[in-house]
Amino acid sequence: MTDQAKELEKLTQIRTEALSVLADVRDEEALEAWRVANLGRSSPVMHVFSSLGQLDKELRPLMGQAANEVRTALEAALEEKQHLLKEAALRKALETEQLDVTMPGRPVERGRLHPLTQVLRRITRIFGDMGFQVYHSPEVETDDYNFTYLNMPPYHPARDMWDTFYTKDEGVLLRTHTSPGQIRVMRERAPEPIRVILPGATMRYEQLSARSEIEFAQVEVLVVGEGVTFAELKGTLEDFARRLFGEDARTRLRPSHFPFTEPSAEMDVGCFVCGGEGCAVCKETGWLEILGCGMVHPVVLEYGGYDPLVYSGFAAGMGIDRSTLMRYRIDDIRHFRNNDIRFLRQF
Ligand SMILES: [Zn+2]
Repeated sequence: MTDQAKELEKLTQIRTEALSVLADVRDEEALEAWRVANLGRSSPVMHVFSSLGQLDKELRPLMGQAANEVRTALEAALEEKQHLLKEAALRKALETEQLDVTMPGRPVERGRLHPLTQVLRRITRIFGDMGFQVYHSPEVETDDYNFTYLNMPPYHPARDMWDTFYTKDEGVLLRTHTSPGQIRVMRERAPEPIRVILPGATMRYEQLSARSEIEFAQVEVLVVGEGVTFAELKGTLEDFARRLFGEDARTRLRPSHFPFTEPSAEMDVGCFVCGGEGCAVCKETGWLEILGCGMVHPVVLEYGGYDPLVYSGFAAGMGIDRSTLMRYRIDDIRHFRNNDIRFLRQF
């Protein structure tokens, strides 16, 4: 046998042995060991490359080419094996980790609307059905909008009815009622007719107790146009009360006083707890006060940009917290904003 034949025989052997070992490889780890042993720096085929220098000059190109072929063949075999192992692993995973789409899912806890939001939405829907729009106005107001334009000039004693949060900026305060929105919507729409409700948060500087909070929600009602009368105020509010409290709800208007309406009244609804018999909720009167109302004061109309000789209007305001308290017989107004999930879950 010539040297050349011997060397070529050696390469064939390297290739045959390597491929036969590869055939038995079953996992990634064994494959990596095989790669190191057969294609790594000290593998037999690499050894052939590094010893080429010791061969006869004529033999070198031939042996180099042959060794290259072996290495290429081993690399191709490695790649194919990698592919096969991956496929096998995937098939195994599909068999053992089957997804059962009929299993029940993880329960998702359902949220719900805050009781005040629920009541507010009901009121909004009722007025919406009657053709009212919703108008949002700022919670931070100027002294003028909160008082002066509502017929309470500076130093007017009526201002004492509201314990007010003033800010460090002169003349800027947290609105004590939703009524400043009346002026804003009037100034925006004048001289067009207006039929809106103004819902939102209001703030008062109060001692916290079971009956009073520093923040509470109100809804204001405002209608302005030519020839709006007290009869329309009465009809609209009675209709509203029936839609909110039920077809049989009884209502009554009592004379009252507010600086921004003239004449003014308060509306009571027959106690829905005792049916008018008298109980602790209605303080034995058989009636529950639900809102204040009246014809928009001429001064307020004028500040809003409407000529009081041509236009008239009515307004009403109700506290959402109070009526929700009564509705659900909640014993403490502070529950609404404590974010106690045990309380909120009940609605
Ligand atoms: Zn009662």
